[in-house]
Amino acid sequence: MTLKGIPVSPGIVIGKAFLLNSESFIIPKMAIKDKDIPGEIERFKNALRKTRQEIISLQEKLSREIGSKHSDIFNAHLLILNDPVLIEKMIKNIKKKKLSAEYIFQQVMRNYKRAFSKLDDPYFKERISDIQDVGKRVVRNLLGRKRTNLTNLTEQVIVVSYDISPSDTALMSKEKVVGFATDIGGKTSHTAIMARSLEIPAVVGLERISIKIKNDDILIIDGDKGIVVVNPSSNVIAKYRRKEKEGIRFNQELSKIRDLPTETKDGYPIEITTNIELPEEIDSALKEKAKGVGLYRTEYFFLNRSVLPSEKEQYQAYKFVAQKMNPHPVVIRTLDLGGDKFLSHLDIPTEMNPFLGWRAIRFCLARPDIFKVQLKAILRASKYGRLKIMYPMISSVEEFKQANKVLQEVKNELERKGIPFDKKIEAGAMIEIPSAALTADILAKEADFFSIGTNDLIQYSLAVDRVNEKIAYLYEPNHPAILRLIKMVIEAAHKRGIWVGMCGEMCSEPTFIPLLLGLGLTKFSVSPLMFLRVKRVIRSISLKEAKAASKEILNLDTIKKIKHFSQSRFRKAIE
Ligand code: PEP
Ligand code: MG
Repeated sequence: MTLKGIPVSPGIVIGKAFLLNSESFIIPKMAIKDKDIPGEIERFKNALRKTRQEIISLQEKLSREIGSKHSDIFNAHLLILNDPVLIEKMIKNIKKKKLSAEYIFQQVMRNYKRAFSKLDDPYFKERISDIQDVGKRVVRNLLGRKRTNLTNLTEQVIVVSYDISPSDTALMSKEKVVGFATDIGGKTSHTAIMARSLEIPAVVGLERISIKIKNDDILIIDGDKGIVVVNPSSNVIAKYRRKEKEGIRFNQELSKIRDLPTETKDGYPIEITTNIELPEEIDSALKEKAKGVGLYRTEYFFLNRSVLPSEKEQYQAYKFVAQKMNPHPVVIRTLDLGGDKFLSHLDIPTEMNPFLGWRAIRFCLARPDIFKVQLKAILRASKYGRLKIMYPMISSVEEFKQANKVLQEVKNELERKGIPFDKKIEAGAMIEIPSAALTADILAKEADFFSIGTNDLIQYSLAVDRVNEKIAYLYEPNHPAILRLIKMVIEAAHKRGIWVGMCGEMCSEPTFIPLLLGLGLTKFSVSPLMFLRVKRVIRSISLKEAKAASKEILNLDTIKKIKHFSQSRFRKAIE
């Protein structure tokens, strides 16, 4: 079986499927530490308690609605849940085997099933479906209390799920998770962005992969073409192994340009920085000889935790990146929560349109207590390198000024206390909302710099949800509206004499690079994985050629013509 989706992170990988958060009865082996054993036993007991309550209310409901005769079938379920032998066995095995409760439970239930199926008595044979049923309930409750988590996998897997949240991806270790595939999602969803950061092949928007495949199926993920092959034949595996090798050779070739200057073919210097989500990624950025970090998505620091990170914790993280990157700059984007990134412990109401809702700078301005802690941490860390502050989702100059006012208050406080910080620290705006792009000339009077966030700019300009695979075909950077907006922002910045870069995914796609160079973009910020690919394209195009091409492109009236023009004019450079 071959499934087609949206390729979001390049490379090929062959491995075993692991269904994340599925209700499947097969759960992968996950180790637990000695200190976690009592907690694991407690978690199992809680799941039993919860399952009992569920069954009792179901029984009550059934007996009210269709009579007690039918509700009696659940007595067998309750008997299983109350079985002291089962409970005893579970506790003993968790202690002895040091594996997760769901894994042990699955083994114990399997043994029960096997024993019952050997008996001739039809009564016991019928109980097998009860065991299965109640088993699923318990597993679901175990997973519900502590969803299958990706931190303690014991073997390499390809994660398959309906969706993977950015917080799940933040828990993935690339030693264990070697690829992933999801039913939903788009190229610029944060899940996709994280796959590129982790440098693992991934395909999203596969529609029903999480239903079609089973745990332990063998999968090939082709992150270049957006294809997933399920249980491939040995011939197909051999073909992909060859492709895998080609990929390795391609990367070796690419690494030859690592030490060469980043400039166009006719010698104009261009700057490439990297986008990072977690401080640890700084090493990948340094490996590629990046000239700084153009976007540090600090909100990842806030995910997967039960309390907000303290000023000290944040200060240490920002200091770490500042020092590691010094003398190159690090643009720290302030908290960009909301949209597809949520914190379960903050009381943010569920909204009809989360991408248009109470998020990013809007949230920070409404919660100065949280915002100020972050600003204080950034300012204190600014002493150790070249930090810059960037506000996400700026929609008007008033909003930018409001954010700067809070920054000034924090600066005043630090000065009063005699705490040192970089007094000349720059504060810039992400240009990712059409209203900001259209008023870039006004914003340029206040901001020290701009960074164009095309991921959101495209979503808001074209009214296309960036994580919805059904309308992914409409998510089109080649739309003339997008090109005009980008041009407008670059020109407004240049006119005012402030620097402007791009940190959206558009600038890491080879086909857009000639056009962006032609529009005057000189600062590209991309994920470390794309760094050398982008550099290679830049080095093979002359600025003169790019400028001439972009002029022609701006006169084209359809997406199709623009696409065709870039692809045919620069075929050799972008392939
Ligand atoms: C963007 O919107 O282009 C961007 C870089 O920010 P994010 O992807 O985190 O929304
Ligand atoms: Mg954005």
